[in-house]
Amino acid sequence: MQQIITLGSDQLRQKAEKVEKFDEDLIKTASLMLETVKKDKGVGLAGPQIGFMKRIFVTHIEGDEERIFINPSILETSQETTKVEEGCLSVPGIYAKVIRSKSIKVQAWNEKGRPFTMETGGLLARVIQHEYDHLEGVLFLDRLPEEKRDALTAKFEKKSRNLQRSSPRNLQRKGAKV
Ligand SMILES: [Zn+2]
Repeated sequence: MQQIITLGSDQLRQKAEKVEKFDEDLIKTASLMLETVKKDKGVGLAGPQIGFMKRIFVTHIEGDEERIFINPSILETSQETTKVEEGCLSVPGIYAKVIRSKSIKVQAWNEKGRPFTMETGGLLARVIQHEYDHLEGVLFLDRLPEEKRDALTAKFEKKSRNLQRSSPRNLQRKGAKV
C-alpha cells in the first residue's frame, strides 16, 4: 500500500522516464501498484501517482484481468470519441466528463519485459488514455474547457483546506474512498 500523491504536487506534472531495467524491483513495484489501486477502489494507477517517476501504469477493471503497461505507446486512436465521467485517485472527490477516443491501439511491455500490442475500446481504452496522460504530467482536468478546469481546481483546493483544518486524519480517510 502506497500513499497516493494528490493535485498540487510537482511530481504529477513531471514527465516520467523510460523503464530501462526489468528486474525484481520493477515486478515488486508493479504488484504494489496493483495492491494500491485495489485498496483504493480505483481502476488504474500510474507510477508518478506514487512518486515512482517511471513509465509504468496498471489497470484493474471489473471483469477484466489485471494489466501492467510499461513504456507504453499509443499507436492509434479512433476518430470517434466518447464523453464519460472520470475521476482520479490524485484528485479525490472531483469528477468530470472527459472527451476521449472511443478505441485505441497500444503497444507496451509487461513486467517480465515481454512486448505486447492490443486494440481495445470501452472503459479500458479510457483508462489507458487517462493513465498514459499521467506519464506525460497531464491530468484529466487539463482535458476540460479552461473555465471548468479552474472551477474544479478551486473546488478541490477549498475541500482540501477545509479537511486539513478539521483533521488531517479525515483527509486521509476521504482520499482512501475514491
Ligand atoms: Zn488519474
